[in-house]
Amino acid sequence: MVILGGLLISAACNRGVLRPPAESVRPIDASPWTTNAGAIAPTPAHVGPRNAALSDSDLDALWERQLMVPVAGMVRASLHDDFTSKRGSDRIHGALDILASRSTPVLAPDDCVIGRMFAGPVGGIVIYATDVTSHFVYYFAHLDGYLLGLAVGDRVAKGSVIGYVGSTGNASADTPHLHFQVMKRGAGRAWWDGPPINPVSFFALDGSRP
Ligand SMILES: [Zn+2]
Repeated sequence: MVILGGLLISAACNRGVLRPPAESVRPIDASPWTTNAGAIAPTPAHVGPRNAALSDSDLDALWERQLMVPVAGMVRASLHDDFTSKRGSDRIHGALDILASRSTPVLAPDDCVIGRMFAGPVGGIVIYATDVTSHFVYYFAHLDGYLLGLAVGDRVAKGSVIGYVGSTGNASADTPHLHFQVMKRGAGRAWWDGPPINPVSFFALDGSRP
């Protein structure tokens, strides 16, 4: 049992590799990222092609979240935009693959509520989280493991460690990466099935080094 943000949490519901330090999870009130420091102007996602289910106000709302690149030490300029790369004949990737060494900390890109944690054959060890307004869903896949003590329902501050980069699921074992997806939480749709938004131009902050 550990105490995170005032919540008493059992680690027994976690799967995968569990590692310290639990103190990397800060309560939202302690977030140091509320000043929009380092913000850059949004452009490409506002002008490029996008899913018809997304409105300008959705994109403005996402920009207001001032997202952090969700891998420790990863800077915005080094991201490779593979959002529209093909997956099969009728599908696009709809996410970013962020390559990093195995066990590199995965960070909360926003003040988040952890919604789902499980392991499956495709995504491997995964986390689904929402922003605190429940407007957006953040999906993290192929993790090597979770932060020790992380549990569904936890509220974690932007920049907190939530897991570690890996290659679980259908990822190539020699190419550990974070599959990171942002979705609008669509009305009338399953929470995990909202229209994806390319996050590449919405990152206002480089990944911090915990
Ligand atoms: Zn991917």
